[in-house]
Amino acid sequence: MNRINAPRGTRDIVYPEITDWQMLEERIREFYSRFLYREIRTPIFEHSELFHRGIGDTTEVVQKEMYTFEDKAGRSLTLRPENTASVVRAAIENNLLDTAFPLRFFYIGPMFRYDKPQKGRFRQFHQFGIEVFREESPELDAEVVYAAHAFLEELGLHDISLEINSVGCDECRPAYLTVLRQEAQARQEELCPDCRRKVDTNPLRIFDCKQPGCRSVAVAFPTIANHLCPGCSDHFTGVQAGLDAYQVPYTVNERMVRGLDYYTRTAFEITSSRLGAQNAILGGGRYNRLIHDLGGPDIPGIGFAAGMERLLLHLEMPPAEKPALCFLACQSAEYRLHVMKLARMLWQAGYHAFVDYSHANLKKQFRRSDRMAADFTLVLGEEEVSSGQLTIKDMARQEQVRIPQQELLEWMNQRKK
Ligand SMILES: [Zn+2]
Ligand SMILES: [Zn+2]
Repeated sequence: MNRINAPRGTRDIVYPEITDWQMLEERIREFYSRFLYREIRTPIFEHSELFHRGIGDTTEVVQKEMYTFEDKAGRSLTLRPENTASVVRAAIENNLLDTAFPLRFFYIGPMFRYDKPQKGRFRQFHQFGIEVFREESPELDAEVVYAAHAFLEELGLHDISLEINSVGCDECRPAYLTVLRQEAQARQEELCPDCRRKVDTNPLRIFDCKQPGCRSVAVAFPTIANHLCPGCSDHFTGVQAGLDAYQVPYTVNERMVRGLDYYTRTAFEITSSRLGAQNAILGGGRYNRLIHDLGGPDIPGIGFAAGMERLLLHLEMPPAEKPALCFLACQSAEYRLHVMKLARMLWQAGYHAFVDYSHANLKKQFRRSDRMAADFTLVLGEEEVSSGQLTIKDMARQEQVRIPQQELLEWMNQRKK
């Protein structure tokens, strides 16, 4: 029979790598609880319209990267390519926006994009992220950026750099886009076919293009910095003062616009110099229109998302604390039921135990215990059963003792310390 492999761009996460994931997830939950973020879990698929309206029809994500399909009833559904639109939808749908408690959410989970698979980049990939609704002050933006930066630092990532920018608002961006469009039109010939289309639809997205030709043209384009309205300008100044207060090092990059249409004002990105070309590990920004655009009240939002695959590529998680493992060996099959009673005792007390149900001889069972890196091997044979005792071998110390069976837990507890 032919083998069936996982689809291209997906992968299985197995032991021992899975322990890094579990640890990372635990750290995320603990860290973001400090700022009163509460976990939210939204569906893996949503109505396609949510992403068309939320992310923007002219973005790379919506145009090229979405997994969209029709269900049996003919509804257009899409595997979520990111989670902000979903969190907004969920907050509106569940009437969360009326509560007095801070509207702060964090999520961890798989996202899907039809992208070219490469090192650290998959079609099913994982992100964690946070979203804050209703809070508008620039100092809150600084706190969100701090919460992104400090978490990576706490994980031990020190070669990271943070870039921030303001991408303006509905008031000041149109005038800037007119200027940008004129400039892009003048140099249209030098742009790739994709970017030529963007000149009319959304010239800001030309900054996202990875083609060297387009990049060198975009470097000369005007930036929004000189076009910000007083409100956006003051906000950006406030964000920077806030970052100074939280002692977060940053640089302003006027060409950093992020790949999604919904951002307003603050945009930010954290990169790691260890990653080479694919070096963005976290990005986010403020989105003051999105909640309203998705049918909610006119309240602002801000958040970020981080790629967990890439993060784990750069991280050295400390080895997981491994509980003691007992291997239960049996001199012959007739004592097996007896061994099972001991195993049950160990499991109930929270110990890790493995019963060897094979008919292998004792020597083979010991070899197996060794290969499994068991800490202790328990042996029951004729002598032990008739005297109510059991033999325990401490595999690391190569010591063997015989103790009464009813003292097993007591003995284990002492060994643990
Ligand atoms: Zn503005
Ligand atoms: Zn281009």
